[in-house]
Amino acid sequence: MTPVVQHAPAFTPEEAIRIAAGYYGLAVSATPLPSERDQNFRLRDTSGAQFVLKIANSEEALEILDLQNKALGVLGAADTGLVWPRIVRTLSGNPVVPVGEAGGQAYFVRMLTWVDGVCFANVQHRAALLASLGCALGKVDRALMGFSHPAANRKLYWDLRHASLARPHLALLADRRRAQVEPLLDAVEALNWSALPQSVIHGDANDYNILVDEAGAQVATILDLGDMVRTATVCNLAIALAYVMLGEQDPIAAAAQVAAAYHRERPLSDAEIDALDTLAGARLAMSVCYCAWQLRHAPENEYLNISNRPAWQLIEKLAVFPSGWARDVFRRACGLDAPPTPGALLVSRRKHLGPSLSISYREPLHIIRGWRQYLCDSGGRAYLDCVNNVAHVGHCHPRVARAASEQMALLNTNTRYLHEHLSAYLERLTATLPGPLSVVYLVCSGSEANELALRLARAHTGREGVIVVETAYHGNTNALIDISPYKFDGPGGRGRPAHVTVVPMPDVYRGRHRKADSGARYAEYVASAAMAAPPAAFFCESALSCAGQVMLPAGYLRNAYDAVRAAGGVCVADEVQTGFGRAGSHFWMFETQGVVPDIVTLGKPIGNGHPMGAVITTPEIAASFANGMEYFNTFGGNPVSCAVGLAVLDVIRDEGLQENARDAGEYLLKGLKDLAGRHPLIGDVRAQGLFLGFELVRDRETLEPAADEASEIVNRMKERGILLSTDGPLHNVIKIKPPLVFGRADADLLVDGLDGVLRG
Ligand code: PMP
Repeated sequence: MTPVVQHAPAFTPEEAIRIAAGYYGLAVSATPLPSERDQNFRLRDTSGAQFVLKIANSEEALEILDLQNKALGVLGAADTGLVWPRIVRTLSGNPVVPVGEAGGQAYFVRMLTWVDGVCFANVQHRAALLASLGCALGKVDRALMGFSHPAANRKLYWDLRHASLARPHLALLADRRRAQVEPLLDAVEALNWSALPQSVIHGDANDYNILVDEAGAQVATILDLGDMVRTATVCNLAIALAYVMLGEQDPIAAAAQVAAAYHRERPLSDAEIDALDTLAGARLAMSVCYCAWQLRHAPENEYLNISNRPAWQLIEKLAVFPSGWARDVFRRACGLDAPPTPGALLVSRRKHLGPSLSISYREPLHIIRGWRQYLCDSGGRAYLDCVNNVAHVGHCHPRVARAASEQMALLNTNTRYLHEHLSAYLERLTATLPGPLSVVYLVCSGSEANELALRLARAHTGREGVIVVETAYHGNTNALIDISPYKFDGPGGRGRPAHVTVVPMPDVYRGRHRKADSGARYAEYVASAAMAAPPAAFFCESALSCAGQVMLPAGYLRNAYDAVRAAGGVCVADEVQTGFGRAGSHFWMFETQGVVPDIVTLGKPIGNGHPMGAVITTPEIAASFANGMEYFNTFGGNPVSCAVGLAVLDVIRDEGLQENARDAGEYLLKGLKDLAGRHPLIGDVRAQGLFLGFELVRDRETLEPAADEASEIVNRMKERGILLSTDGPLHNVIKIKPPLVFGRADADLLVDGLDGVLRG
């Protein structure tokens, strides 16, 4: 038992009834209310009027009770929009009366009128409620601005200024947890307190002290003035924010809504806004530290464990965000550093950006920051990014960003000079590929890679023709549009050029062949195309992306490659979307088919967003291309790009991202399959690692595509803070290819969100 708890009074309800009768002249019934260090009873008299009888801890000084009573008087008289309990005086007119317990110990007793309401902890935190809370806190702080009381100048250990008092308890935490909490205490200790205005604050607007009206829309009152203290005014808001964020899917955005409403009532200074996240973090740190300490004294207290859990979850969640993220969100929410409005950005975009480009979502997003698997919009909202396979190792990975900026500050030239980054990168990249693939061309995009692959194949074979798969997309150049049915058969396309043969998409869900031998069956189309018109190359993604996240059936590439090679053609694996460990089981998706291509093309994830691409081929094909005409690429393979490429490979290895793709991918696949079991709209779920898709159909027999539904789901998921997109020739496939740091918890969030949207 902790010392304060030891001094908690232990009156019975009968004694409370006697106190109400003897000191207040009230005939009441009494029900105990929970309190850790004091004792409170809910009283009801014969007329139905309700009161709270508050019996203070024997350690509580009379002057602290006087502080509370005076503050209640100030708050009651101010325009806070809240309902404050009134002090009920004893028959002899005293606001506080000492009462003895059976054992002889004296306790100070007060009576307050009852205020109805529901705990903030037990209601849904809609935007209106968060705004109401911010407004209430701002009004309370404003009302107390001129209030002073000698007892408020005390050293209270819950005062955030004394956060370091929690430091000794760090030793009670497990290493991993200590590592999360210590920086929170470091940050608050480094604060410049003299920049923060001071006043007497409530100091404990926690989620059980905030009462909300029955409708859950408005804050009714803030109970328990037992932690009142004179300190930095902004601590009051920060403490409330620590609790507001508990259990929130997007805690920082929820806190920002409260802060913004507060700021309208009591404008925060720059220094106050900048201190908010540190102070809220300090409150969480103190809370878990004291809880660890209490648990040591009362290990059997399951309640302590339960109440502690959301705080730990929140600390873990917040630890994911880079420092400064929450501060930036709060600044913008309060109207500082205001970004341009989406409307203004759209106007200039429409005016000056080539119009052959669509923008995602009905209401476009203005994304201003990225971190790991999250994107943050200008309103401070975080989104779980389930589609960005470019930010492969996580948005803005610090190792990648550092590698780029350090090299950028040192040297950026081209591949006509020797450079250790270039040599190291060539070694590292080729080491990930099977033996014959040992010659690299470094370029700047997936399109450049495929464009060059086409030239290599043509130089090697002396032929023009290309076999491609229905709905394939290989890039944006002239030559690549010609081999991309997705484009030449799509809007604005001019149809299939004569030198191109299109083979059916090896789709085992909707296509012609759906049985165990479908890989071989579909490869027969490649074989007959190669026989009819021997090609320079067969271009094929190792899992089809634009075609709707289609996994190639077993044996497809092996049979197709055999046929193409028998006809003298070259086999190109487009790994622009699928490479670098996304497959989970293998580093390259083509490995899942048990083949070795003649040329592999890389892009998107290779530089985690830095524009890079690569073509890797055999010495024989490279020799055919070396006909005297130089291949020079101004930017390809420059020292900055190589430093970035190396950092990406390092991170994939050091953070075990391929293994994570396997684990999180399998877990998500199972979740999606369960979902398909409950929702007939999901006709098919397919996946290889963190490359997944699910196809929506209105009828599982006819497979009537549900494109409108797919688009609706994507938009509704965005409203829930989860980013997805659609693809496939019928626009009815929802694709999932997140940064590889996407974990099981993200998969749960995604599946739960989809379940909610599908249930309507
Ligand atoms: N190949 C595939 C399979 C792609 O998906 C893309 C881009 N979507 C490209 C090539 C072209 O890459 P980039 O846009 O980097 O030129």
